[in-house]
Amino acid sequence: MLPLADDYGRVATDLRVSLTDRCNLRCTYCMPAEGLDWLPLESQLTDDEVVRLIGIAVERLGVREVRFTGGEPLIRRGIVDIVRRTAALEPRPETSVTTNALGLARMAVALQEAGLDRVNVSLDTVRPETFHTITRRDRFDDVAAGLEAAQAAGLGPVKVNAVLLRGINDDQAPELLAWCLERGYSLRFIEQMPLDAQHGWNRDQMVTADEIQSQLESQFVLLPAVEPRGSAPAELFLVDGGPATVGIIASVTRPFCGSCDRVRLTADGQVVNCLFAREESDLRTAMRAGAGDEELATRWLAAMAKKLPGHGIDDPSFLQPDRPMSAIGG
Ligand code: SAM
Repeated sequence: MLPLADDYGRVATDLRVSLTDRCNLRCTYCMPAEGLDWLPLESQLTDDEVVRLIGIAVERLGVREVRFTGGEPLIRRGIVDIVRRTAALEPRPETSVTTNALGLARMAVALQEAGLDRVNVSLDTVRPETFHTITRRDRFDDVAAGLEAAQAAGLGPVKVNAVLLRGINDDQAPELLAWCLERGYSLRFIEQMPLDAQHGWNRDQMVTADEIQSQLESQFVLLPAVEPRGSAPAELFLVDGGPATVGIIASVTRPFCGSCDRVRLTADGQVVNCLFAREESDLRTAMRAGAGDEELATRWLAAMAKKLPGHGIDDPSFLQPDRPMSAIGG
């Protein structure tokens, strides 16, 4: 087993696998109303190819956690089988899905039976009209049903991820937390990052972690949770004495690159060693040209070694990566 180490001593053990760049929502801060130029299907990895690369990561490169994402991973036709084959790997990795939860009500039991451990559901508001404004779709009830089904199927602890947007839902943090607490979901707020397809992100407009914390503190008592943070991006707080917690992920204002343990594989088989990397390493072409597992593992190790020390958003020379979050795998 060779660890996916970089030149700064970090080791990636958490693999995010994008199963598709397509999505059935059109969140304004992610992509335009008309969608994007999707990857041609022939450049997307087949189910066998995805499982083969995950197998190399788990069995040869020390990956211990596999999270499926996208685009929207639940619209990938083979997802249940991909999860089943991933959960059957040795040593068995932890498996989770980051999803908008559309269709989860229908799929939660099948995913759990296939070996899925947990879900992270993205939900930025609990007001149906704000949901429509943000996602350009009228599907709040489907997301709520998906969350309920995930909880009932034992895909817990169910996590909810929320992004606050200036002038749209920036006053809704406390009600989102109250809604999640009532249902036993674990909520985490994430600062908006410069990863939108439209390149419209503006730091001055961003709702900061400090702002989110003080908004929550207007209605809840937050105390720093004592558990060690490790490589987890969220700063965790006990809510009203606990045991419930809320997390705040300050990706922009308090970056945690020094403890990053993540690596990404795009739906078209590129290794991306950082969400903000401007270089990708192509495993698909080598695999389709007949490369063996050992050669693919060697290429993956080389891709990780050159991971930069930080995302550099604050650097005057910062350039957004060419592909948006939805294509890299959020
Ligand atoms: N479709 C799935 C979902 O909704 O969870 C997975 C992909 S989506 C790109 C993953 C996460 O990225 C979502 O929680 C979404 O809110 C978040 N996201 C998208 N663009 C973002 C941005 N510019 N900054 C921060 N988070 C972003």
